[in-house]
Amino acid sequence: MGKASRDKRDIYYRKAKEEGWRARSAFKLLQIDEEFNIFEGVKRVVDLCAAPGSWSQVLSRQLYLPAKVSPDSKDGDLPLIVAIDLQPMAPIEGVIQVQGDITNARTAEVVIRHFDGCKADLVVCDGAPDVTGLHDMDEFVQSQLILAGLTIVTHVLREGGKFIAKIFRGKDTSLLYCQLKLFFPTVTFAKPKSSRNSSIEAFAVCENYSSPEGFNPKDLHRLLEKVGSPSGVDDLDCSSGWLEGPNKVYIPFLACGDLSGYDSDRSYPLPKVADGTYQSLDPVQPPIAPPYKRALELKKASSHGIRELENLTLEP
Ligand code: SAM
Repeated sequence: MGKASRDKRDIYYRKAKEEGWRARSAFKLLQIDEEFNIFEGVKRVVDLCAAPGSWSQVLSRQLYLPAKVSPDSKDGDLPLIVAIDLQPMAPIEGVIQVQGDITNARTAEVVIRHFDGCKADLVVCDGAPDVTGLHDMDEFVQSQLILAGLTIVTHVLREGGKFIAKIFRGKDTSLLYCQLKLFFPTVTFAKPKSSRNSSIEAFAVCENYSSPEGFNPKDLHRLLEKVGSPSGVDDLDCSSGWLEGPNKVYIPFLACGDLSGYDSDRSYPLPKVADGTYQSLDPVQPPIAPPYKRALELKKASSHGIRELENLTLEP
């Protein structure tokens, strides 16, 4: 697919380039904020799975840059944004980057060190594994990323804070909902307008963090497994009788973003310049070291690319 045809087919992809966002995902976070006001009063944020960085850009533009130019803020007052990804990311003003794996316990320690004893007001996680197309498998791997995100949340989020996490809707959505409800009295699954209807992606918007009484982050997985067992956790509505049939839990689900705004599943005509042609823009900032980088280099550099690709061994 050529650049111009992608611009036509995907209005948010085109708008992202026009507005200087590194990825169209920026609109998803903006639309979640329109509905849930997630940035209100936020001073410290963790952006999990942040590369190539469009959510970090949103955080920088909404929180850091306005504070920087405000006559009332001093240096020490500026919002603190820590972004983590397996991949490196080009710098963004006001964003501290950590290259690391969110499923690794040490990553939480690194984040905590940056906050210097204070806790975060908001944790966002747009993590996604490489999607296989096998929905059960993708949903499972995605839920492992969310649980890794939740582990970090239990270490770094202040009481009353918010957690936004990408989920894949599937048959275990109710289980995930109940697990999140252990820590957040309000959990809503939201589908921003910029997220395609054809995608099973949605976002869990978890508000008012409150850890269960006597909770020790070391016991997180034991606690979550209890939700997954028929005996369940006593004080949770959705554990009584288990999550099927008439007892199936009701999950608040909300479409968000301006409903009369752009539809991510529609094609829009391309705006023409004076000579009647359309000028496609280059992406704002492609990932600087994506996992497919070596394959692309080999393909470009070698007329025997195919043979070399066949011999390509996966590097750690
Ligand atoms: N929110 C980003 C943005 O707006 O630019 C897009 C995130 S992209 C959909 C998903 C990211 O998750 C990828 O950059 C990938 O490297 C990252 N990721 C997947 N598994 C991870 C892990 N275990 N630890 C850290 N990052 C991970």
